[in-house]
Amino acid sequence: MSLNSKKNLKKKETDSETKISIIAANFKNILETLELDLTNPNLKNSPHRIAKMYVNELFTGLKNDNFPSISLFENNYDYQQMLVQKEIHFVSMCSHHFMPFIGYATIAYFPGTHIIGLSKLNRIVKHFAKKPQVQENLTQEIGTCLQDILKTDHVAVYLNAKHFCIIARGIEDSHSFTSTYFLEGKFREAETKQQFLNEIKNKI
Ligand SMILES: [Zn+2]
Repeated sequence: MSLNSKKNLKKKETDSETKISIIAANFKNILETLELDLTNPNLKNSPHRIAKMYVNELFTGLKNDNFPSISLFENNYDYQQMLVQKEIHFVSMCSHHFMPFIGYATIAYFPGTHIIGLSKLNRIVKHFAKKPQVQENLTQEIGTCLQDILKTDHVAVYLNAKHFCIIARGIEDSHSFTSTYFLEGKFREAETKQQFLNEIKNKI
């Protein structure tokens, strides 16, 4: 294969500034289609503001380069029990409606040779939440990523979230929550599974 055809296989990534100007132009179209007056000071800069928010804040998880740097420590204490990190707050965007869904993640694992810096668990949840998502997929992405990094099957993830596409449109129910699970390795065994489910229920 020639060098040129190899290069063509790799899709060139558009830089952030170009993305912002393309999204801003298209969002301007949407607002104009809604017959909004873009000379109104509250709307004038909205297309650019929204484009910047999409690229630099809400959807940073679309870029693999933004994946947090991970610190692993040797499991010197030979800690072999369950480690649980509870109520990790996240904000994501439903890919069906582009409305936010917000909630909490609880993560557990049994360490092997290494343990992970605790705040990295929060950062991993945040990274995968920052893109258009469905909750089922977000749960799985967090779980499989942790299995990869921690080199263990014994990982559990629980997400509990409120979806604004349920609150603000359609059924308009502001009360219901959605729960999703990733239970692998030991977490499929009845006793360990129950221990994890008890952890979810017990608040500090
Ligand atoms: Zn939705």
